Amino acid sequence: TDIKELLLSRIRDVADYPEPGVMFKDITPLLADPAAFTALTDALAEIAEGAGATKIVGLEARGFILGAPVAVRAGLGFIPVRKAGKLPGATLGQAYDLEYGSAEIEVHAEDLTADDRVLVIDDVLATGGTAEASVQLIRRAGAEVAGLAVLMELGFLSGRARLEPALRGAPLEAL
Ligand code: 5GP
Repeated sequence: TDIKELLLSRIRDVADYPEPGVMFKDITPLLADPAAFTALTDALAEIAEGAGATKIVGLEARGFILGAPVAVRAGLGFIPVRKAGKLPGATLGQAYDLEYGSAEIEVHAEDLTADDRVLVIDDVLATGGTAEASVQLIRRAGAEVAGLAVLMELGFLSGRARLEPALRGAPLEAL
């Protein structure tokens, strides 16, 4: 489709970043192009409306950049899921495994209620570890997961297969 070509044309491949052998997908050219950024925001807001979402969760850090304008466009609240130690209030945390070691993400638990249906937004789905942890965190906070929407899915890393059990039928949309 046209939007897919527009978005793809604004993503830059950076070789050997952040380490040798990795081809990093850099979205900053897309953010710098108002037509592409607006098209992406509109497409994600449409997904949020279709999913019946009541809140947007953005994953640090590029999920903040994409998720915040989607929340405003769709008329929904925005909730940041941050790396551990960054949120000042009472948090719920969820640890997850990385290739080497582990990481932890946190949310302000009081920002989510049992009435919420949450759409999680991030830029790139790679192994799916971050997204899986966020889905678990949202459920533990008492809210429902309406789905996960990303700009881009790196299919060769099989994040979709890893996430499927955690999503429990909620949709995963990759633009
Ligand atoms: P995962 O947990 O799925 O392995 O990694 C996903 C997280 O790492 C996302 O928050 C995403 O922002 C970041 N990430 C991994 N690879 C890339 C990439 O090639 N480009 C960008 N922009 N982000 C990436």
